[in-house]
Amino acid sequence: MPQTATPRLQASNLTRKFGPRAVVSDLSLTVAAGQVTCLLGPSGCGKSTTLRMIAGVETPDSGTIQIDGQIVCDATRHLPPEARGVGMMFQDFALFPHLTIAKNVAFGLHGDSAKKAARVRELLERVNLSGFDRKYPHELSGGEQQRVALARALAPRPRVMLMDEPFSGLDNRLRDGIRDTTLEVLKEEGAAVLLVTHEPEEALRMADEIALMRDGKIVQQGSPYNIYNAPADREAAAFFSDIN
Ligand code: ADP
Ligand code: MG
Repeated sequence: MPQTATPRLQASNLTRKFGPRAVVSDLSLTVAAGQVTCLLGPSGCGKSTTLRMIAGVETPDSGTIQIDGQIVCDATRHLPPEARGVGMMFQDFALFPHLTIAKNVAFGLHGDSAKKAARVRELLERVNLSGFDRKYPHELSGGEQQRVALARALAPRPRVMLMDEPFSGLDNRLRDGIRDTTLEVLKEEGAAVLLVTHEPEEALRMADEIALMRDGKIVQQGSPYNIYNAPADREAAAFFSDIN
C-alpha cells in the first residue's frame, strides 16, 4: 500500500479522564487495512478504555477518531457504535444461548436471506465449524464458541475489528491454535485489527505492529522484531523478559 493511503483507522490525541486522573493521555495510533496492531501493556494502563473510545461506547474528553478518513468522533461529532463499521470481540464473548450457531452468526446481518445464509456458511467454513449451524452454544466447547463469536463479529464485514483480550478466558493448551486460526481468518477478511492484550507472547505471535502502552500513553510502536530486540527503555525490556 502506498504511504500516502488513508489509514483505515486513525486515532489522534485521545484523552480520557476519570475524575482528575487521565487514564488515556494524548494517545495517537493508526492501523492500516489488513494489518493487526496489538495494543500491549500491563493491566490498568488504559488499553480497554482506548478500545472502548474507538468502538464508540466511551466518549473521549478530547481527540479525534477517523475511519477511512471519515470523522466518527471529535469535539462535536460522536457516531454511535453501529454507525462506525466496527466489529467487537471481548473476552466475555457471550453467544445468544437460545439461538442456533447459524442464527448467532447471522445476528448482525440484514437483507436478503439467501445472501445471509451464504455469508454464514462461508464464515462457519472459515472458522472450521461447517456442520455446526443447527447446534446451540451449550453443545460447543469454549474454543468452538470463541470461533463462533469471531464469525459473528466478522459477518457484517466490519472495517475495523476491535478485540479486547479475546483469548484470556481460554485454556492455555487451546490458545495457540485459536490464535493461529483467528489470525488466518482476520487476514482473509482484511479488516484493520486492533487487538488488546497484556501478554507479550500473544502480541509477538499475532501482531504486524505492536504499540506498547504504559500509564495511558504509547511508549513505543514498531514491528514485533524491533520492539523485542530494541525496547525503548528498561521497563519495556522487563516486560518482555519472561519470554524465552
Ligand atoms: P486496561 O484495559 O489496560 O487494564 P482500563 O482501560 O480498563 O485498563 O483502565 C485504566 C484505568 O482506568 C484503571 O485504573 C481503571 O480502574 C480506570 N477506569 C476504567 N474505567 C473507569 C470508569 N468507568 N470509572 C473510573 N475509572 C475507570
Ligand atoms: Mg482491559
